Amino acid sequence: MNLEKLGWNDFFNTQFNNHIYKNGMQPGRVSREHKGFYNIITEDGECLAEISGRMRYTAEDSGVFPAVGDWVMASVYADEGKAVIHDLLERKNHLSRKAVLSGGMPDTWGKTREQVLAANIDTVFLVNGLDSDFSVRRIERYMTTVYDSGMEPVIVLNKTDLAENLDEYISRAESIAFGAPVIPVSGLNNAGMESLKKFIRPGSSIIFLGSSGVGKSTIINRLIGTERQKVNEVREYDHKGRHTTTGRELMVLPEGGILIDTPGMREFQPWKSEEETARYFEDIETFAAECRFKDCTHNTEPGCAVIKAIEEGLIDRGRYDNYTRMKKEARYLEIRMEGSAQHAEKKRWKSLSKLQKEYKKKM
Ligand code: GDP
Ligand code: ZN
Repeated sequence: MNLEKLGWNDFFNTQFNNHIYKNGMQPGRVSREHKGFYNIITEDGECLAEISGRMRYTAEDSGVFPAVGDWVMASVYADEGKAVIHDLLERKNHLSRKAVLSGGMPDTWGKTREQVLAANIDTVFLVNGLDSDFSVRRIERYMTTVYDSGMEPVIVLNKTDLAENLDEYISRAESIAFGAPVIPVSGLNNAGMESLKKFIRPGSSIIFLGSSGVGKSTIINRLIGTERQKVNEVREYDHKGRHTTTGRELMVLPEGGILIDTPGMREFQPWKSEEETARYFEDIETFAAECRFKDCTHNTEPGCAVIKAIEEGLIDRGRYDNYTRMKKEARYLEIRMEGSAQHAEKKRWKSLSKLQKEYKKKM
C-alpha cells in the first residue's frame, strides 16, 4: 500500500522522522477498532495490531487511545501477520461525540466521556434520509461539530426517491448550511453519485456521519461499486473465537480516496465547548451582541435584539431554540468535564514533545 494514497503527508512524515522510537518502526494507519485490538494498514498491507504494554500505560493515564484514521508507530511482524503499536502520531484533527459509559468498573458507570469517532479527516459527509426521520435540527447538531474544525462539511440528502418536494428539502438544508454544499442523492436508484465522487481525492479522508438507517452503507457500496463484504474480505473473531460484527472502518478506494464509516448511532451528542457551539450560530450571536443588556437571556428583557429578530423573521425560531438547547448542553458538559480527556490529551502531547526534545539534545 502506497502511504500517500493512505493519507500520509509531511505533517506525519516530520513527526515520524523525529520520533524517538523510529528505528525498526513503520507508520501505520488504523483502519478498524475492536475491543482491545486494531487493524492497521502499513506499506505491507493490512494486519491485526495490539498496543504495547508501555503505550497502554500512558494511554490509560491520558485517556487517549488510537482511533480509526490515526497514524501510529508500529513494529510489524509480517510472518505472523501481526503488529504492535508503540505510539500515536499527533492528529491533524479529530471528530468526537459525547458518550456515556455503560460497561467497565462500577465507578465509571454512567460517566460522560469523549468518544473519538475518527482522526485525520478532510471531509465530512453528513448523511440524512428524506423520509419521516428528516430533521434540520439534527443537521445543525452535526454542523456544530464540524463547523470551524478545518474539516469540510457536505450535507448529503439521501432517499430523494421518497421526497415529493425535493426543492423544499434542499432549501431548508441550504438555509443552515452556511456555504456547505448540499447534495441530493438516492442510494437506491444510484442517483447523484457523480456529485459525491467530486469530493473523493487521492490521500483525502471522508467520514460518513448520520443516524443509522439513513443509507450510509448503501451509498458507500455504490461509491465502491461492489458489495463491501467483498472489499473487506477479512473475517474477524473476538478473543473467544466468535465472529464479530465490526464497527467503524476505513476503506481505501482503488482509484485513491479514503472512506470511513461510523457505527450505528441513534443520536449524536456533540463534544464541544459553549464557545465552540456558539461559532456555528454566529448569525444569532451577531444579534445577541446588539441587546441592550450585556447579560440578556433573550426572554423578556427590553431592548432584546434577538427577540426582535425572531419577531421580524430574521432568525428562525426553531434554529434559535436549538441554539439555546445546545449551548446549555455544552455548558453542562464543560462543568462536568473540568480536567477532561481533552485536557489530558494536551498534557500527553506536551510530555511527548518534551521527551523528543530531550532525545534530540542527546543526539
Ligand atoms: P445506514 O444504517 O446509514 O448504513 O443505512 P443503510 O445503508 O443500511 O440503509 C438503511 C435502509 O434504507 C435500507 O433498507 C436501505 O435499502 C434503505 N435505503 C438506502 N438508500 C436509500 C434510498 O436512496 N432510497 C430509499 N427509498 N431507501 C434507501
Ligand atoms: Zn437579548
